[in-house]
Amino acid sequence: MPVSSTPPTTISPRVSVLSRVTVVSVFMAGIGAVLLLLPPQISRADLPLHLPLLLIFVLFVMAATTPFNLEVGRNGFALSLTEVPIVLGLLSTGRLPLALAGSLAFLVSKIRDSKVASIKLIFNVPLAFAEISAAVFVFDVFGPTKSISSPRTWAELAVALAFSTVLSTSAVNAIIIATGDRLSAGQALRHSLLGVINALMALGLTITAVLLISITPVAALLVVLLAALVVAPLRRYATLQRRFASLQSLHDYTAGLTRSKNLGTTLESAANQAARILRAESAEIVLTRVRSVVHRAGTPSSEDLPPTDGDEVWLRVLIEDRAVLFAKGAKEGHAYLARYGGKDLMAVPMRHDDEVIGLFVVRDRQGDVSTFDRDDLAILQTMADQTTITLQNLKLIDRLRDEAATREHQALHDDLTGLANRSSLARKIQEGIDLSDGIAKFAILLLDLNRFKDVNDTLGHHAGDRVLVEVGRRLVAALPRNASVARLGGDEFAITLPDVRNVDEACVAAENFQKAFLEPFDIDGMALRLDASIGVSVFPDHGLDRNTLMQRADVAMYAAKVEKGGAVKRYDPSQEQSTMRQLTLVADLRTAVDSGEIVVLFQPKADLDTGAFVGVESLARWKHATYGPISPDEFIPLAERAGLIGDLTDHVLRRSLEECGRWHERDLALSIAVNLDATTLAGPGFVPHVASLLATYGVAPTCLTFEITEREIVREIDLASSRMNELRTLGVRFSIDDFGTGYSSLAYLSRLPVDEVKIDRSFAGDAADSRRHAALVRAITDIAGNFGLTTVAEGVEDARCWETLRDLGCDVAQGWHLARPLSSEDLWAWFRHRPGARDRRSATGGAPDVGAAKPHSVVNLP
Ligand code: C2E
Ligand code: CA
Ligand code: CA
Repeated sequence: MPVSSTPPTTISPRVSVLSRVTVVSVFMAGIGAVLLLLPPQISRADLPLHLPLLLIFVLFVMAATTPFNLEVGRNGFALSLTEVPIVLGLLSTGRLPLALAGSLAFLVSKIRDSKVASIKLIFNVPLAFAEISAAVFVFDVFGPTKSISSPRTWAELAVALAFSTVLSTSAVNAIIIATGDRLSAGQALRHSLLGVINALMALGLTITAVLLISITPVAALLVVLLAALVVAPLRRYATLQRRFASLQSLHDYTAGLTRSKNLGTTLESAANQAARILRAESAEIVLTRVRSVVHRAGTPSSEDLPPTDGDEVWLRVLIEDRAVLFAKGAKEGHAYLARYGGKDLMAVPMRHDDEVIGLFVVRDRQGDVSTFDRDDLAILQTMADQTTITLQNLKLIDRLRDEAATREHQALHDDLTGLANRSSLARKIQEGIDLSDGIAKFAILLLDLNRFKDVNDTLGHHAGDRVLVEVGRRLVAALPRNASVARLGGDEFAITLPDVRNVDEACVAAENFQKAFLEPFDIDGMALRLDASIGVSVFPDHGLDRNTLMQRADVAMYAAKVEKGGAVKRYDPSQEQSTMRQLTLVADLRTAVDSGEIVVLFQPKADLDTGAFVGVESLARWKHATYGPISPDEFIPLAERAGLIGDLTDHVLRRSLEECGRWHERDLALSIAVNLDATTLAGPGFVPHVASLLATYGVAPTCLTFEITEREIVREIDLASSRMNELRTLGVRFSIDDFGTGYSSLAYLSRLPVDEVKIDRSFAGDAADSRRHAALVRAITDIAGNFGLTTVAEGVEDARCWETLRDLGCDVAQGWHLARPLSSEDLWAWFRHRPGARDRRSATGGAPDVGAAKPHSVVNLP
């Protein structure tokens, strides 16, 4: 009898299917019960054989656990030898014991196999029950005279078996339909026919055996031999049949593929068909050159799908170009399958031009007993080959290659500038190292734009992007032969220079790249000036591996950043310490303001003609717990880069206004100057914030001056000038700091709401000794005078300088000659006890003691 161990293979335990199977099963159980109870019942005494029931039960169990797989179409039938115990039972025992023994044997044999889905149990046990009941019933109908040697009995048995087989195959067909598979009438008929043939074969075998053994028990040997002779060709037939079916499917598969028109449908139909033909729960094609192309059919048993990038199957197939067969129950791959909760798996390489371009995987053979074998693997390989041929025919592989090439390009290039990117640079450096002959050197130049962040913040990303593209263009234009440039992200670029003779040569080349920044950048009609800091490291002088070289170029670049303007620095171990120091400082800067480590000093300014004390400039000082006093020239740029400059400015501003408020209380209308950076000025809410601070400390806006350098203003020109206008409307004054060191012309600055220029100490300080600087100061004071601007000279260290500057037309002086930057208390002490406080002539070298007519409030010292 064809015991369906596999028809329900297509059953997945879905509720609707389950309920349909249950209906068929209950129906079968009902038929079994009716047939069991119907008359006539034949007494056991009338039967020709008297075998013990236990033996029959054991034979049932054996038959149920060793089925042969005979595949019909997609559904694998398990032909079993259950008919043997049925025939023996019919000849030796009653209806009820036989039906119970058979059903129980099924229950036992299926439960033993714990993997069998309960759905099959629901189906198989009632089926066995109905089948046995039907056979016994028909046999009984023929009446009680039974003799084993009578052909009549044989015929009765044959009819009984045929009847029960037709009943059971019909039930199986019903289940196939119930589980949603299609089944033609011809197929259904064939199932029944096969079943009947199988049953009659078993019958013949059994009768012969019984007759032979009844003559002489030694004939048992003959029976075994005979059985072996019958079973072996049967198995062989089953295999052949399956192969034939596979070939048929393979043919269909190829035919299906050649009809596909594009990649998607090709791969999809390939995966679908593979799953169908190999009766797998799922199939998948992964083309690794283009990782995203994964086509899957069916639902895999686990979510964490094998094979995955780099796992053992993946490596074996893709790297070693080997097929993988992990069959159920086999030792190989057991752990792998257990890890993923899979039943079995096959994977084969997809080859094209001697190259593995992907893998084809099928998983989880349908059915409980069945698993993948070598034949299946060969079929899968054929399908994989066929699929690649189809892809090739469709020129799909070429397209995939193109796609892959584009991706690779994208992976190695920067989208914005089209330059090579960081990974590409890494490759280049590695190549340089690998190809090095030990004599030639090569250099890495790390280039970082200065103040680029401000371009982005103030002019927007669009402008920033344009600057970056232009920088890229200029660097490429300046590249020597064999050199290459990459953008590492943000405003960082790297240049690799092969074949440099020594570090000096690398530095000269780096200086050359600085020339790319001489021309201003024309962004939306605005001329932006930018420069870059460049760090240089050379292989093998500064490092033997990629990371070290990069890291050292980085250290050198940071050292270059510390120097203002575009500087070039070669790597030097001492820079590591300064980098450490800078990192520490940036970290500590965050708390330094709150912890009071940053204090504000005040440096007096006086009228050059009268010597009258007109105001102070506030200067930040940091006394670091471990490093001691840190110069603002070091920590102000750090604060700017770390985004802490706003907090710092706020702190200085509050301290300054507090101080200024105290003077106001004493009726001293001194002005106070606070240094300001463009980012803080352009920051949102800065104007109202200043207004509210002025109100809080009770300081007249006219007493507050912001000092801002021209390069800062130029950097933020639009926002800066509008904010300056707003503040100026409040009454706040502006001074251009470090005047003369920048690029812009005075005429240009005259359009800005400025009240004062501070002539940089680098030439104001030595105006007495340098005719060139003296001429410059003269030019500045002349033009400033024309625009109605006050001029303040910085760095006045002695009386000679004081007089020179006064003669050159400067209005106000600031410098050590007057006083160093002082604490609040020291300032008061200086203010009161300043030598010659009452006779300014001695302090100012003859300047008359009259109140200045300048915009500053002038205090005649008491
Ligand atoms: P600056 O605004 O040009 O400040 C003047 C610098 O010249 C101060 O240096 C001052 O101590 C120094 N100086 C004054 N008189 C003389 C002199 O007669 N001879 C010489 N050689 N130097 C003199 P300091 O305090 O080291 O400040 C350096 C720079 O740090 C300042 O230059 C300013 O740009 C910046 N800075 C200082 N405090 C602040 C602040 O609170 N905020 C901002 N944004 N920047 C600040
Ligand atoms: Ca200043
Ligand atoms: Ca200055």
